[in-house]
Formats: sequence, structure tokens, C-alpha cells
Amino acid sequence: MSENQPLSGRLADRVKLREEHVITRMADIAEKLTDVIRLGRGDPDLDTPAHIVKAGQDALGRGETHYGHPLGLPALRQAIAENIRAHGGAEYAPDEIVVTPGGQHAMFVIALALLNPGDEIIVPCPGYNPYSQAAELSSAEVVPVRMSMDTNFTLTAAMIEAHITPRSKVLVLINPNNPTGTVTPPDEVERIAQLAIKHDLIVISDEIYARLVYGNQRIQPVAALPGMRERTITLSGFSKAYAMTGWRVGYFAGPKALITAMAEINHAFAISTASVSQHAALAALTGPQDCVEEMRLIYDERRKALCEGLDRIGIPYAEPQGAFYVYANVSVVGIPASLFCERLLAEGRVMIYPGRIYGDYTDDFVRMSLTQPVERIREAMSRIQTVVHAIRSE
Ligand code: PLP
Repeated sequence: MSENQPLSGRLADRVKLREEHVITRMADIAEKLTDVIRLGRGDPDLDTPAHIVKAGQDALGRGETHYGHPLGLPALRQAIAENIRAHGGAEYAPDEIVVTPGGQHAMFVIALALLNPGDEIIVPCPGYNPYSQAAELSSAEVVPVRMSMDTNFTLTAAMIEAHITPRSKVLVLINPNNPTGTVTPPDEVERIAQLAIKHDLIVISDEIYARLVYGNQRIQPVAALPGMRERTITLSGFSKAYAMTGWRVGYFAGPKALITAMAEINHAFAISTASVSQHAALAALTGPQDCVEEMRLIYDERRKALCEGLDRIGIPYAEPQGAFYVYANVSVVGIPASLFCERLLAEGRVMIYPGRIYGDYTDDFVRMSLTQPVERIREAMSRIQTVVHAIRSE
């Protein structure tokens, strides 16, 4: 009998063994420290509003502990359809909506349903990386559109058009974008939609941060534009606007012709989304909405405090127009951003993430989440200033 192959060699070819995952490495460093200010993950520190928690508890009390409808609780899908419409989105029937265990899960379902090996999927870069992972798992080719801080990381139709080939099939839009916090202006979204029609692209429109925009920004739902409903899958969820990350509820909506196959894949993966969480999500949509505005105002205040801190230190950043992130260029510090993140954690006990994990092609940027109270953000900024000063005087 031949000698046994090492276990790692038995992994499937599609599993690329990359360098140790930076988030895991930073989590290991943080584990050994106390009083770390965590501005890393996109997970709000704010609690899920009490009426939503209560709806979940009530559902548990009623024994809602079984599998549910494969597409999702009918009342929730109805409420999602109404909510999409109320915010200027397209008209959907409840059977054109699939509730999933988080928006992230939906990305993989959608990619597997749309992409053949060799198909090209255009993604914003930097952008939310799981779209690329989902595409790779589908053996599709990921085509990144590189945006730059000179234009505040705004995605334009012209930039996308330069990347279109006969194999282009799917275009991912994330508005507002993560990690940059950039909002694509409505007139640019319209131009991108026209481009999608011209080149027969299917658009995945991730609008999970659409309720969290600042100043006079506005999000144009892609599917509501002329000719777009039939070629758009809108993806969203409850994690961000309602501080419900741990409940794991998201959804996608699109034309029946695409949704039926996607629903089947979702069923194969998940059977259904946790019933308790779906009842909580229903309360989120049908209950008072002031909680969303209250949270938005809190993030807005934090955003200003963080930007003031960066201005003081002299670190440039993209104008954060939406979501709850600030994307800053730390090349002025004089070391690569990924090394800066590790040193900042070890020496300053502040956790932030390098832009590289969002596909950034430079190692100049960091993402800072607005997921700590304003006084902790101010404290983080003074710790950052100290570490930057120490590095610069080496
Ligand atoms: N879309 C974007 C752009 C995100 O940033 C995230 C999470 O950070 C998600 C989707 C997935 O969120 P969830 O799976 O919690 O619904």
C-alpha cells in the first residue's frame, strides 16, 4: 500500500491554500490583548431593537422551531415586497423573493445559478470580496474594475465598459459599497443600467446598506430602472439597517424565470431560513422604523469623529457617503497597510482591516468600521496617532 497522502493534499483543487488568513491572524493577536478597540468587522455594536428581539422571543414561545416555507415565511416575503416598493424599488410578487440565512449565503446561491465555467463576472475593486469567492467556486472568471481614490472610488459606466468582453455575463454593483463607503450617484446607476442592457448583462445589485447613507446621498434601486427588472437580482438583508447580523436573515429578489432555479439551490443548501429569525425580520419591516434613523444618526456622528481624527493625523480617506466604514490611505505612514494593521493592533490595541482583503490591488488602504461608540472612536484615533508617530520616527 502506498504511503498516505498528507491530509491537506486531499482537499479539492478549487480550494486554494492562500497565505494564512489575515483576519484569523489578527484575531489571534487580539486574543492575547486586553482593551482592544475593535473597528474591524462590519458588525454593529448596537443592539437589535427591543421590539424585534421580542418578536423573535414570541416566535420561540409559540414553538416556531421548525422548517419553514422554502422561499421564506409568506408574510415576510409580502413585507419585503412592500418595503422594496416603498423605497422606490421594483414591483415583486412574493414568489419572486427568496429569504436566505444572510445576504452572504445568497451571493453563493446566485453565482451558482448564473455562472458557467469561463463566464466572466465583473466586480468592483475594492469591493465585498465574497462575490469573487462565489464566482471562483462557480469556476467563473472574476474581472475586477479598479476604482481609485482620485474619484472617491466611484464606479462608472465608462470604467465598466472597458472591461466588457463577449464572455461578460454578470455585473456586481454594491451601493453603497463596502469597504469604501462610496455611493454610486443615481445618474451613474442609470448609465450603468443602459450599459447592462446594451451588453445583455445580468446585474446583481447589492443594496444591503441602502438605508445607511449620509448628507444628501440617495440610492437608486437598479431593478426599478426601465428594462432592468428582468435582468436584475436585488440582494439585501437585515444585518446592517436593523443591527441583526447574528440573526442571519437576508434575501434576494428577481424575475421568476431566474428565481425558481435559485430557490431550488437555496433549498438544497439551507432547506429554509431559521423561523425565529424570520419572525424577527418581519417585525423589523412592519414595526416602527425610527430605530433605523436613530442608528443612521449614530453612525453619522461616529463618521464625523473618525474623519476629524484622520484629518488631525494627516491620513487621507475617501469621503464616506454610506454604509458604516471609512476607507483611508495609510501610505503616508511609510509601511504597507497590512503591516500597519498588525502593528496598530499589537502596539496600539486598535483593530482595523487592510484593504487587501477587499481585493484592493494596492497595499495602501485600511478599512475602519464605525462599530464603536464615539468616545471609543476618539480614543482609537489618539492611539492611531501615537503608533503612526512611533513608526514615522523609526
Ligand atoms: N453585502 C455586503 C456589501 C456586505 O458588506 C455584507 C456583510 O458585510 C453582506 C452583503 C452580507 O451580510 P449578511 O450575510 O449578514 O446579510
